[in-house]
Amino acid sequence: KKWVYLFREGDASMRDLLGGKGAGVAEMTRTGVPVPPGFTITTEACNAYYESDKQFPEGMWDQVLVALKEVEQQTGKTFGDPNNPLLVSVRSGAKFSMPGMMDTVLNLGLNQSTREGLAKLTENPRFAADAYRRFIQLFGKIVLGVEGNRFEHLMDEAKGHGERLDTDLSAEELLAIAEQFKQVIKEDVGVEFPEDPLDQLRAAIGAVFSSWNGRRAVDYRRINKIADNLGTAVNVQSMVFGNMGDDSATGVAFTRSPSTGEAEIFGEYLVNAQGEDVVAGVRTPQPIAQLKETMPAVYDQFHTIAKQLEAHYKDVQDVEFTIERGKLWMLQTRNGKRTAAAALKIAVDLVREGVIDKATAVQRIEPHTLDQLLHPMIDPAARATATVLTTGLPASPGAASGTAVFDPDEAEHMAADGHKVILIRVETAPEDFHGMVAAQAILTARGGMTSHAAVVARGMGKPCVAGAGDLRVSYADQSVSVGEQKIAKGDWVTLDGSTGEVFVGKMPTVEPELSGDFAEFIAWADEFRTIGVRANADIPRDAKVARAFGAEGIGLCRTEHMFFEGDRIDAVREMILADTLEDRRAALAKIEPLQQGDFEGLFREMAGLPVTIRTLDPPLHEFLPHEDHEIEALAAKLGVEFAKVKSRVENLREANPMLGFRGCRLGIIYPEITEMQANAIFKAAVAVKAEGIEVHPEVMIPLVGNITELKIQEELVRKVAAEVFAAAGVELPYLVGTMIELPRAALTADEIAQTAEFFSFGTNDLTQTTLGLSRDDAGRFLPSYVEKKLMPDDPFQSIDQRGVGQLVQIGTERGRSTRPNLKVGVCGEHGGDPASVEFFYRAGLNYVSCSPYRVPIARLAAAQAAL
Ligand code: ADP
Ligand code: MG
Ligand code: MG
Repeated sequence: KKWVYLFREGDASMRDLLGGKGAGVAEMTRTGVPVPPGFTITTEACNAYYESDKQFPEGMWDQVLVALKEVEQQTGKTFGDPNNPLLVSVRSGAKFSMPGMMDTVLNLGLNQSTREGLAKLTENPRFAADAYRRFIQLFGKIVLGVEGNRFEHLMDEAKGHGERLDTDLSAEELLAIAEQFKQVIKEDVGVEFPEDPLDQLRAAIGAVFSSWNGRRAVDYRRINKIADNLGTAVNVQSMVFGNMGDDSATGVAFTRSPSTGEAEIFGEYLVNAQGEDVVAGVRTPQPIAQLKETMPAVYDQFHTIAKQLEAHYKDVQDVEFTIERGKLWMLQTRNGKRTAAAALKIAVDLVREGVIDKATAVQRIEPHTLDQLLHPMIDPAARATATVLTTGLPASPGAASGTAVFDPDEAEHMAADGHKVILIRVETAPEDFHGMVAAQAILTARGGMTSHAAVVARGMGKPCVAGAGDLRVSYADQSVSVGEQKIAKGDWVTLDGSTGEVFVGKMPTVEPELSGDFAEFIAWADEFRTIGVRANADIPRDAKVARAFGAEGIGLCRTEHMFFEGDRIDAVREMILADTLEDRRAALAKIEPLQQGDFEGLFREMAGLPVTIRTLDPPLHEFLPHEDHEIEALAAKLGVEFAKVKSRVENLREANPMLGFRGCRLGIIYPEITEMQANAIFKAAVAVKAEGIEVHPEVMIPLVGNITELKIQEELVRKVAAEVFAAAGVELPYLVGTMIELPRAALTADEIAQTAEFFSFGTNDLTQTTLGLSRDDAGRFLPSYVEKKLMPDDPFQSIDQRGVGQLVQIGTERGRSTRPNLKVGVCGEHGGDPASVEFFYRAGLNYVSCSPYRVPIARLAAAQAAL
């Protein structure tokens, strides 16, 4: 079996086998870009390694030795030869890039004698010592498992705690540090540092394989929903050196701005540096524009290659490069991660430049990332009076407030307790990932636009301000200060990741506007979309937002949400507490005009579009006060005795209200409630129609399990409609339908469709009733279920396709077997979840309905489903 591929044997199509990095260097090699020679050990080898109890698969090592010979020939250097040593990097690279999540060892092949040889050969003992020091540090940490800050502490000491830079250290000092490092290794893990380069290589390959199951990698895969069984490839590549002096450098760049999408090369580099120095914030890097001044020829070549790679991949590339004594080498290329704002601009620009077509552009953007564009901004009015603590780099856009925390574990705990926190660090490292996930936003004192904090935050769509150099962070004191100003743990701060500003205190935010590129892009999506997108909206204000986001109607209006507006609740409570039909009618008469007013508002906003109104659904108990003092106040208001109200409240308490007296059951026992609501709906329709506005009411009966229930309610609704129309002397089109949210309803959909003119799957309740899983109580265990991968996803967020989804399919098929043109939609959280939208499209639904802010996401998801 072939476990090892030379770079020149691979290409971009081999990502599964060679990983993203391996396929990238292979493709660059193939197209003539200067890449240091090397080879890739396949992801299959990694999986075989795990299957055989962490042994290299049969034949792999021999193939490595053969490939190494080949690389020796290509470079003219020999592995382990003191006269002209070949050094290599051992780099991980999974199919999906996991930035900073896996580990890389540089300068492998160095030992006492090859280091001396290298010093002699390059006539640069300082460089050889620096490479040696780095190798021992990386190998010690990554392969031998020594706590990384044991080394960093010694480095910091040698640099006089910030008095000197790493570049100020002499060869002798670096060698002394290297010896200290070896001592640390011996103390901590009890092994001598391996001198034999082949031993080093074998161990490093094993360590990269093992890093696939390290905590950071596992966390990253969980958050990003990447399968655990893909494995990582290992790239062994001849080293090129950016740390050979002032004519050498290392850097990273994007072919366009990953924050804004602006079509300019965007990047940073560090002179006389190696590997992770740029992103780790060891020194503050220089912008790539500087390279144009200092090494114009190299810059030109770099610019040409960057553009060539972008054209080749037809997408923005994120590249790593190193300059060794004036010669440029490319070390990595991949499609660049970007903010949603950048993704949008880039997709639109690439279409305008003729590089990609609209369909490709529409498929380029993950629907849920549009959320970032709907991110809040700091209210401009509040900004005027705000106290700016400091300004750093605008590393990831959006604004957020939270209380300061300085420790990732603490951030995780606080967030779990429902607190909004801002994680503040000197700089972040991959091991801080879980804290970044928990935080609203991230603030660092050190590091550039491509620092770990910046890259990870952008990926998550969280605001981040990086490299705020004035900040003095004290972990010991759990505080951060700028001059006299001090922020202690628990104090509120606000970050603006679009400007880099850091504010003291909590600030109000406002929603952004959606026009320009966004409007154009989402209109392209609509060209491909074949199912409708409606919004769940209860009040005219939400309906207005929904229309602005492109909703094509209201899929669910929960009438009861208006019951809590102002003092309407009093009339509702009066209705609930009424003893006699007469009293109940009196109370309902107070509610009716209020509801009519609401519906008129909705019909006006939705002029000409369908509006689905659901009759009363929740258990009545939800509307009553529960504390004695509240009950007392209510009794006084209604002029009834406290005891009477109290006993009525207790009477209405149910052991299992979600399966209790709710939904159509209310309207069946108290028909006057449905009657009042139907009156409000049709009177509103007549009134708005009289203003010259088209209205399309759709009355929806909830929680039907049996056709008999629906029939009773339907007859009542139709009777009221006829009365209202007769009184007004008009006739308006309307529909009566039902929610399908009980398994029995889905299974008997053929019967139900005899009466129902439309179905709307209430997938929240349908999930609850199908899985026997209480939405309100699942929080105790559901997260662990998802974490343990017992379920692929929270079934309340992304539909359980196999189970609940099957009921959706069955219900749709059976319903249409009776009524072929039955209109079928879905309301509930799933309507705005891209994976669920894709499923509903396949199930043949006519539309999805979701919260107004998710409408653009659903539009894009629906377009992608159809493509
Ligand atoms: P990551 O996936 O974390 O970016 P990489 O394998 O890309 O890890 O390597 C980390 C750093 O080491 C990068 O900055 C890269 O440019 C540098 N590097 C890797 N291999 C070499 C090499 N052969 N010569 C010089 N620098 C290298
Ligand atoms: Mg890296
Ligand atoms: Mg890299």
